[in-house]
Amino acid sequence: MKEQIRSKFIEYQTELLQDLAELIAVPSVRGETTTEFPYGEEPARALRLALAQAERLGFRTDNVDNHAGAIEYGDAAEAIGVLAHLDVVPAGNGWETNPFELVIRDGKLYARGVVDDKGPAIGALYGMRILRDLGLPLKRSIRLILGTNEEQGSSCIKYYAEHRPVPLMGFTPDAGYPLIYGEKGNFNAKLFFPAEGTPVMELKGGVAFNAVCSECVTKLDGTQVDAKALRDSIQPEDTLGYAAEVTEDANGQVILTVKGLAAHGSTPHLGVNAIVSTANILCRYLGEKAGKLLFFLRDQIAREPDGETLGLKYSDDISGSLSLNLGLAELTPQEGWLGIDIRYPVKSNLAELTGRFQKMADRFGLTFEVRGGSEPHYVPKDSEVVSKLLNVYREASGNPEAEAFTIGGGTYAKALGSSFVAFGPEFPDGEPTHIHNIGEQISLQAFLDHCVICTLAMYELAR
Ligand SMILES: [Zn+2]
Repeated sequence: MKEQIRSKFIEYQTELLQDLAELIAVPSVRGETTTEFPYGEEPARALRLALAQAERLGFRTDNVDNHAGAIEYGDAAEAIGVLAHLDVVPAGNGWETNPFELVIRDGKLYARGVVDDKGPAIGALYGMRILRDLGLPLKRSIRLILGTNEEQGSSCIKYYAEHRPVPLMGFTPDAGYPLIYGEKGNFNAKLFFPAEGTPVMELKGGVAFNAVCSECVTKLDGTQVDAKALRDSIQPEDTLGYAAEVTEDANGQVILTVKGLAAHGSTPHLGVNAIVSTANILCRYLGEKAGKLLFFLRDQIAREPDGETLGLKYSDDISGSLSLNLGLAELTPQEGWLGIDIRYPVKSNLAELTGRFQKMADRFGLTFEVRGGSEPHYVPKDSEVVSKLLNVYREASGNPEAEAFTIGGGTYAKALGSSFVAFGPEFPDGEPTHIHNIGEQISLQAFLDHCVICTLAMYELAR
C-alpha cells in the first residue's frame, strides 16, 4: 500500500505543489485583530484558501469563525484528527529567494511555511484525497483541522475545541519523527531580590524567559570600580572563553559587557549563560560588595541545567530531569530580579512544581511572581495512537528500532488534549530545514516521504 500511495502522490505532485504555492503566497503572519479576523486578515485568507482548495477536491469544510477550520472525509460518527496550521512566523531579512513564493531548485522546496506548517497541511489534504481514491474502507472519519494562530499561542485550537467536538485521537505533523509522546510542563517566574547598595548601577541580561542569555551588560559606579583592575581580574573560566569587555563611558561609569552562547530555554545545557559569567566576574572582583543577587547567581544557579543546588531538581523515568534556564536578569540600586524558565517532568504537574519553587524561595527569603505556566503533555506509549503511529514509522522507514521520545519544548499536539501526539514532518537524520529562520526548506524527496507516512498514519488510525 505504501507504494500505491507514493505513486498517487507522484501522479498528483504538480497539482499539490500548485496548491501549496498558492497557500505560500499568502503572507499569513499574525496581523491586527478585528471582530472578523481574530489574528489579522492574512491568516484568515490562508484558511479560506485552504478550505476552498479542499472543496474543489470534493471535501466538506467548516470555517470556525476564522480561528480554525476543518476538512472532513468520511461519515462515521467517530473521527480521528490531523492538526496542522496555516499561520507563519515573519520571514526575516536575508533570504536568497522570495519567502512568499514557492521556489523549487535542485530538488528542494524553499519558502516560509513550506515545512512549518503549510507543506504538511497540504500533504495531509492530498493524503485524504488518495485514501478516498483507493476506496479503502474506514471505520472512523478523518478530520484535518487547520489552525491560524499556532505561532502565537495556539488560541485558535482552544477556540476550535470550545466550539466543535474534538476528534478521538490524532497527531500533528508539526515537529519531528519518529514520534513525540511527551512534552514537559513549563513554568516561568520572576524571582525578586531586596534592594542593596552595591557598585552596580544597572545590570541587564537576556531577551526572553525561554532563551539562554547571550549578552549581559553591567554599568558600575566609576568611583568604586577601576576599569583596568576589573579587566585584569577576569579569568577565562569565568565566561568559558566567551568575550568579556570592560570600557568607560563619558559619565565615568565602568561598563562590563559579557557574551555567551544563546540556546533554547528547554535546552539550557547547550548554551553559555552570560548572566552567570557576569556574576562569576563581579563576585570575585567586588567580594562582599557584590550583594545577594550576584552571589545567588554564582553559587546557587551557576551553570547547572537542572536546578540541583537550588533543591529544585527532580525527574521521572519518561522525560528525565527538570531543566532550569535563567533567561533574564535586571539589577539596579532599587530592585533586582531574575527571570527563570523551568521545564518539569511529564509525570509531575504545575501545582507540584509551584510548591517546590515556593519552598526554594522561602529557603532563601525571596519572593516571586509566576509569569506563565502549563501542564505537561503525555500520551502513554501503550496507547492506541502511539503504538499505531510508531509502527507506521518503523515500517515506512525500515527502522524497527525507531523510538518515541519526549521533549522539553511544546508542540501543537498539546492544544488538542490527551490523545494527540506530534508525528513528523522532520526526519531524525534529515537535512536542516531552517524553520523559523531564513531559507526555510525541505527536499522534495523528504517532503514526499513525509506525505506518504502521514497518509499511512491517517489510514491506520481510521481503519
Ligand atoms: Zn509549526
